[in-house]
Amino acid sequence: MISKPKGTLDFLPDDAFKRQHIEKRLREIASLFNYKEIRTPTFEKTELFKRGIGEETDIVSKEMYSFHDSEFTLKPEMTAPVIRSYIENSLYNVAPVTKLYYISNMYRHERPQAGRYREFSQFGAEVIGSNEYIADVELISLGVFFLKSFGLNDLKIKINNIGNLEERAEYIKDLKDYLLKYSVDLSEDSKRRLEKNPLRILDSKNPNDIKILENAPVINEYLGNENKQHFENVLNGLKSLGIDYVTDYKLVRGLDYYTSTTFEIVSDSLGAQNAVLGGGRYDKLIEQLDGKPTPAIGFACGIERLTLVLEASTYEFPEEQSPQLYIVTSGDEARKKAVEISYRLRENGIYCELDLLNRSVKSQMKEANKYKAKYVAVIGEDEIKTNEVKIKRMNDGSESGIKLDEITNYNFN
Ligand code: AMP
Repeated sequence: MISKPKGTLDFLPDDAFKRQHIEKRLREIASLFNYKEIRTPTFEKTELFKRGIGEETDIVSKEMYSFHDSEFTLKPEMTAPVIRSYIENSLYNVAPVTKLYYISNMYRHERPQAGRYREFSQFGAEVIGSNEYIADVELISLGVFFLKSFGLNDLKIKINNIGNLEERAEYIKDLKDYLLKYSVDLSEDSKRRLEKNPLRILDSKNPNDIKILENAPVINEYLGNENKQHFENVLNGLKSLGIDYVTDYKLVRGLDYYTSTTFEIVSDSLGAQNAVLGGGRYDKLIEQLDGKPTPAIGFACGIERLTLVLEASTYEFPEEQSPQLYIVTSGDEARKKAVEISYRLRENGIYCELDLLNRSVKSQMKEANKYKAKYVAVIGEDEIKTNEVKIKRMNDGSESGIKLDEITNYNFN
């Protein structure tokens, strides 16, 4: 038997229905905030991610699904593709601020575990064109609004400001100097990162690294007035919306393009992979991808992880709609008629079902009950002869008759 590739998921009908529910909610909320949907190709030029995300990041250095015989890569994230499309389609000519959202599958060659897959999907939002703190506040509040709409109130919002490129360079220099003093004691991963990407050491889960980091310099002290003020304004803005947060000066996130505000929403109900949503400002990315210098901010929320959080919470997913009518048949003539009637009913927007296996009346009734059909009509030889059928309402057993040819006029509500 051929099984699915490692790190991928099948969405069987019940799971797919949950997904539909989440996506419907996402679209409704994105509309409330006036974000428009964008869709981009499943694969892009590998160069886009190398330049956009950064060669030394985990994603680009070891997780990309690149085709060995071409210049393409399955997208590991959506910000670089969105920005590529923004520049390529001159969206800056349409409006000074562009607010976009997406729901899309992503591909990363990671070590699969609970909440971490090789194919997963993200809902994300981007505000391109504003460096005002209110853009940060609105974007973060969109993510929070969405999660709260499911009754998730105990999520933790972590926020930081990682400065502009100059402030960060200064900080990285000092951080590196500090860590070099302890380099023999650092974990192997952190030792490797010390040269290539020392900021990532701040993400280390190694207890010894964490101890060493306790006295390390913090980015907050390297911020210039502008970023300090921006950070304070964002925090005050969130406060005014009643959004609780914790500042976390170690929150740098794994992608090179971030500047200034970074944030993450974590849930205790997830294990090691506890981040549900993450994002930040990327004011330099657009020029890095040959666009005009344009500030922007965005986030991405993992939909599988969100589903895990919801399943562990008290949230009740709605039940899938059940058929309004189940047509039970007995005999060839009745079956022929039922196929015709069901098609006409469906043309009239009535959700109905009928047996496709030529089963006994008893097993068809059983199936009607299993589907929780609201009404049942039994068509046999008599009904064909008289052109009359009884429609039974299942919750109280009441029955009323109608001409078979007029069944589409029946009120099945
Ligand atoms: P990132 O694009 O790495 O900033 O991740 C943003 C969000 O996407 C995370 O908070 C997760 O919810 C989700 N995510 C990232 N990587 C994976 C993965 N391999 N499997 C499932 N969800 C993921």
